[in-house]
Amino acid sequence: MNISKLSKHVVLQGGTILDPVAGTEKKGDVHIADGKIKSVGKVNAPKSAQVVDCKGLVVTHGFCDVHVHFREPGREDKETLETGSLAALAGGFTRVCVMPNTDPPLDSPESIRYTVDRSEECSIHIHPIGAITKGQDGKELTEMGAMLSEGAVAFSDDGLPVTDSGMMRNALEYATMFDIPVINHAEDLCLKKNGVMHEGTVSTHLGLPASPDITESNMVHRDLELTELTGARLHVPHVSSAKSTDHIRAMKKKNEKVTAEVTPHHLFFTDEDLVNFDTNLKVAPPIRSNKDRKALIKAVKDGTFDCIATDHAPHTIEEKEGTFDLAPFGMIGLESCYGAVNRVMVKENKMDQVALIQMLTVNPREIMGFDTGLFEEGMDAELTIFDPKESWTFSRKDIYSRSHNSPYVGQKMTGRVKHTIVKGHLTNI
Ligand SMILES: [Zn+2]
Repeated sequence: MNISKLSKHVVLQGGTILDPVAGTEKKGDVHIADGKIKSVGKVNAPKSAQVVDCKGLVVTHGFCDVHVHFREPGREDKETLETGSLAALAGGFTRVCVMPNTDPPLDSPESIRYTVDRSEECSIHIHPIGAITKGQDGKELTEMGAMLSEGAVAFSDDGLPVTDSGMMRNALEYATMFDIPVINHAEDLCLKKNGVMHEGTVSTHLGLPASPDITESNMVHRDLELTELTGARLHVPHVSSAKSTDHIRAMKKKNEKVTAEVTPHHLFFTDEDLVNFDTNLKVAPPIRSNKDRKALIKAVKDGTFDCIATDHAPHTIEEKEGTFDLAPFGMIGLESCYGAVNRVMVKENKMDQVALIQMLTVNPREIMGFDTGLFEEGMDAELTIFDPKESWTFSRKDIYSRSHNSPYVGQKMTGRVKHTIVKGHLTNI
């Protein structure tokens, strides 16, 4: 991967311009002058302009991930805002939202300010999500208003659920004052117990402690009902089960304030992939049955899910080398995201490419209230350029995260990110 400053004039030449806002694909060029969009389609750039050959490639908005864990402050041995930014660039992501379950958690205006200041030095745009409760212990609400003023874009205790329904109600009611999304990691811990995987025939066969799909869907249902009661905005993260998608689909018919995301890994893997005890497949919520996977794929196609989010969760090799029941939950996912979801959704399930790219660009930006008109003249260039057809195998050398806990190593991918443009720089991957 090579990162260089953009020349004064840059032309992205001969590609297919995929505009996720208009929902169109057209052949054309893009002219970037002084780091800003000058024109899209037909361009009139000086002969001295730097040319990026985009023949056979698609030029679109930079990908945006509303759910990553960059581990700073506290566990910089796993990831920092800088190393996380490199993983993002390699995956075509120009903008991410970091979850607050750092050490200490992002639960105060000062910690939000710290993250915003630090992110200014990083090569992508990073927005902090503030904790819902102080210390993420579920007992006392944080100062949401002051945290928003410092740059928080949403609230979540992710990693942990808000177990107390009264507390969740209070958080949603408080959030209506600011019209920002509340994101709850939906797992009923009383049902989850010490479960490390999805409960079903595979868990019985492997002899591992497991938790059923209703561990998630019960709490998703509760959160949807509380959203209806309070009028707040709820964003449901990393949906893993067929039952949860049914609840979300039904509520979205009557409530437009509900949004939801799905991860690449819940679309790509099933619990049967756990037979070789790869601890990189130990995630929360767990990878479920093929029936659940198929329901998630259907929900991507019918618009029940608004966006793809990676839940990029770095862990050290030492931790992941433990036995399956002791290893921490989580996998990295930024570098492998596009090749994995494009394979599952566009190649294998015939989804329209434009609709998939909308789930990586305009839709997540809308949820978080970010600018969506990235092809408009004068906007800072924030673009991703990919080959939608390239077949390749994901390997260790494709990882730029400080951690390497990826179950995609050795997996076949379809489509590959080639260049990322953000903050005045061009990255060649
Ligand atoms: Zn979570």
